[in-house]
Amino acid sequence: MTVERVYLLPAGNCLVDQSVLNETLSSGKLVNLPIWSYLIETTDGPILIDTGMPDGLAVDQLGPEPGPEAGQIIPRMTKRDAIVSVLARAGYSPEQMVCVISSHWHFDHAGGNAHFQTPPIYVQRAEYDAAMTSDDYPPECRVSGLNYRFVEGDYQLAPGIDLLYTPGHSNGHQSILLNTAESGRILLTVDAAYTRENFVDGVPFAGVDGRQMAKSIERLKDVVKAERPRVFFGHDVEQGNLWPIYPNAM
Ligand SMILES: [Zn+2]
Repeated sequence: MTVERVYLLPAGNCLVDQSVLNETLSSGKLVNLPIWSYLIETTDGPILIDTGMPDGLAVDQLGPEPGPEAGQIIPRMTKRDAIVSVLARAGYSPEQMVCVISSHWHFDHAGGNAHFQTPPIYVQRAEYDAAMTSDDYPPECRVSGLNYRFVEGDYQLAPGIDLLYTPGHSNGHQSILLNTAESGRILLTVDAAYTRENFVDGVPFAGVDGRQMAKSIERLKDVVKAERPRVFFGHDVEQGNLWPIYPNAM
């Protein structure tokens, strides 16, 4: 298998209180974050990373943006942002996926997993174990009986697709290092760092274990030094305007 190119697939937005992205800020201001899935095209077929938010959160048309009194995390998703529609615009159906890589099982990353009944879903064992025993994870993200392939620690899925174990934001979070013919080397931190300032400046953000989060970021910084990839963060607003999105490769 050769990895040809990788695409950013926009999968809706989420209003999040600024203190979730930067714990040194007080709450009371919402920031509109992009939600992403990623499509890898290989010589063996397509691979999807993450499946966006649950279909049940989708509305026909978004209403006006609510104020900070509405809560800390408010999904902003239309039916076009549901993963099956997102994939269809890229020319694919869930059954066509060679496999799915699940970074972690928060609602904005694994909400559409149930649509992927046949392809193998690569998830860290620690994430699966934590999610299956915790009501903190929505039911759409912890679907039993799918074709799970459990990973423990780092794992090379194929040449050019490395899963890097980066726990802390969630119990079994993983980031993805890609080496592609057309898109070059790309590190998808996913939620090991929401933003550039989380990564570069060590600004603390939401997660289950701050010490582990810092360790995972240090580990990814070593990867950046060694491999010199371009780095794409999980929910960085400015970055979202700078990178090409589908149909242009990253
Ligand atoms: Zn997350």
